[in-house]
Amino acid sequence: MKIHPLYLNGEFVTTDQHFSVRNPATAEVFAEMSAVDRPRLKRAIQDAHAAFAGWRALTAKARGEFLHKIANELERRRDEIARTMTLEAGKPLAQSLGELAMTVDHLHWFAEEARRGYGRVIPHQTDGKRNLVVKTPIGVVGAIGPWNFPLVLGVRKVAPALAAGCTAILKPASATPLCNVAFAEACHAAGLPKGVFQLAAGSAGEIAAEFLENPLLRKISFTGSTEVGRSLIAGAAAQIKPLSLELGGLNPVLVFDDADLEKAVDGAMVAKFRNTGQSCIAANRIYVQRGLYDLFVRRLVEKTKALKVGDGLEPDVQVGPLIDEKAVQKALEHIADAVQHGARVLCGGKRLDRPGWFLEATVLADVPKESLCLREETFAPVAAVRPFETEAEAIEAANEAPFGLAAYAFTSDLSRAFRLMEQVETGMLAINDGLPTTTNAPFGGVKQSGWGRELGSEGLDAFLETKHVSIGI
Ligand code: NAP
Repeated sequence: MKIHPLYLNGEFVTTDQHFSVRNPATAEVFAEMSAVDRPRLKRAIQDAHAAFAGWRALTAKARGEFLHKIANELERRRDEIARTMTLEAGKPLAQSLGELAMTVDHLHWFAEEARRGYGRVIPHQTDGKRNLVVKTPIGVVGAIGPWNFPLVLGVRKVAPALAAGCTAILKPASATPLCNVAFAEACHAAGLPKGVFQLAAGSAGEIAAEFLENPLLRKISFTGSTEVGRSLIAGAAAQIKPLSLELGGLNPVLVFDDADLEKAVDGAMVAKFRNTGQSCIAANRIYVQRGLYDLFVRRLVEKTKALKVGDGLEPDVQVGPLIDEKAVQKALEHIADAVQHGARVLCGGKRLDRPGWFLEATVLADVPKESLCLREETFAPVAAVRPFETEAEAIEAANEAPFGLAAYAFTSDLSRAFRLMEQVETGMLAINDGLPTTTNAPFGGVKQSGWGRELGSEGLDAFLETKHVSIGI
């Protein structure tokens, strides 16, 4: 079986230590991935540090041109990389192609955004002095990515880091390293100087410890669970290491009586079932106002029953397998718990009778408040619906979670939309929209959903230091 390589200081390195990669649609191992050890990782950080001086000295335009080339190389190989992504992540092929397209868009955006790392000149308030603000790259960055969007979420860190003039080491999730090997190959093909980007897969604990403890590494950008985010915060205390954290959510959907029913159902379907429900911005709690509740639930069930569940490589599949057995067990536990509390299973609810980690697309109605699926991320194709009476009640329900990543609202009342904009505690609010993510706008959460923002101009800023320069003239 092929052992895929790490990418260290401009070279592809296959190691004796490696780990298995499984296809969630069959549960079978189909590849091996090399694992970095601590001495190699230390060396990689030194190499990234050595590469930093030359990379930051390039013009922003020159750095951007490398990013454009990487994007073009990914685009050229899109079908092959999307297939790899489906094999390792289980994602339906059309959605893997969508993730590829968004990755390419991120690279082009940050290639251009590199040129806009503006500082400013401040009107002075002391005679004989001038005040400037300059932006400088933070240094070597350690990026840690999750498996659910295995390529785009790593690139969402690496592209702005490189654009800002930083060098970066990416640790991909162990379930999904292979499309990141393809990304490393694209960097190599683009002629990126050695040490500017490196790929270091392997033991999360060891890699995180080195990232936290090594003083040459200046920032960690992490996407993953709130639990791991919390451990990084604790670990960062010793060196006050800056962190960007994109963590979990418990995203509410609020459907009001005045909503366009079809738009609301379609929006909730995308927010719930995209990526088989394994998205950080997935709809976890669907609250529908009493007047529209029965109609909404009926349409949601009709459309959910029509979804094709299967191996992401099969044509027209819309819902793939979950990432592993643990994910299936968690979803089944959430369903059983909701039923025990009095929810009704209107469709789905069981695993598929075939190899791999498949769950039927499921709708639970009248889900009681205390059910696990309204309190914890389900991360599966399970739509949990619950009625509400008033706007105030809906806002209170949305805000009672300790998370605040994305929230969705469906309404035709403009005044209400503004009230929600002001009152819902969330990093992203999608109004009459089931998919708010876009390269040119900030992405991230409040409360326990994380620190900082990716994408948009904020995405570049996350890798820049702000320096005040006072000049006596
Ligand atoms: P996870 O278990 O936290 O893993 C994420 C990454 O962290 C993986 O690369 C993992 O490596 C690594 N990791 C594991 N233990 C670590 C440790 N002690 N220190 C440092 N890194 C460690 O999360 P996941 O299950 O992959 O992803 C699902 C979660 O991510 C969900 O909660 C989801 O909401 C969240 N998420 C958030 C966003 C966002 O933008 N806010 C986006 C996507 C996902 P291994 O794979 O080697 O274990």
